[in-house]
Amino acid sequence: MRNALWVLVLGFLFLAPSGAADESDRRQELEGQRHYYEGLLRDCRTETAAKYFVERLGRIEDALNALGKDEQPAAEAEPSKVVKTTGLGPRTVRWLRIRLKEIVREKTVRITDAVAWTRRELPEEMMVAVAQWLNRDGGAGVTVESAKEHWAARPRATWLSAKYGSGTYIVKPPRPNPGRRATKMPEGVKLPKPPTRDEWWQRASPNERAEWVLAYFVENSGLFELADDAKSTKCPVCNGAGMEQKILSNGVPITYVCTRCAGVGRDHTVRFR
Ligand SMILES: [Zn+2]
Repeated sequence: MRNALWVLVLGFLFLAPSGAADESDRRQELEGQRHYYEGLLRDCRTETAAKYFVERLGRIEDALNALGKDEQPAAEAEPSKVVKTTGLGPRTVRWLRIRLKEIVREKTVRITDAVAWTRRELPEEMMVAVAQWLNRDGGAGVTVESAKEHWAARPRATWLSAKYGSGTYIVKPPRPNPGRRATKMPEGVKLPKPPTRDEWWQRASPNERAEWVLAYFVENSGLFELADDAKSTKCPVCNGAGMEQKILSNGVPITYVCTRCAGVGRDHTVRFR
């Protein structure tokens, strides 16, 4: 019942148009509050609570009736108890990018540490941050547990993206392609090779690392809705072929697996909201 109630309240806020004039914003806010107290009233079990909610509703009605007139009723000054979740997704992702950069900045942090942290600690840390924002007006009473419900019911207006970049092959290994073979080199002569996962991580900048971990977290935490039409761009080194070619000093052409994308040919971008 409580869940259904929140969905209604949040759904209301989401459907209401934003950026309107002050008065219509105020009307929306009051109608949201009315909706909220009506829901609480339906669900309440004690007479005292019922009396309080009826009184709150009366004040909200007065405030609604007074809109557009000069008089400002007392309800105007009451703090809003309606939790606003508009823009929660983008805000959380901005926070994630900053937090992830703090975690991966240290040179000594390994990719396995970062991945383990996104599984073990980050989901809870994120919900603590979400609860703090939802309480920003004070007194909204959002706990970490209820923040999870608000998060699940959040408005999903904006699609966002996170890029695996040149580290795409770590999570999406290349498909075998028998048509594209590396040149067989004589004994002792080595073809250029793509970096291993740990080498890629060692060479990546803090920004590249943070963006990769964000994409990983978004895809694997189950906390985000993923778009079906994930985007990808051609690897700039092999132009999507997955293989590179060059001519040796003795004039012999060689073909080898692209040292940037490891043969994937594409940089994967996760789209989510
Ligand atoms: Zn490539």
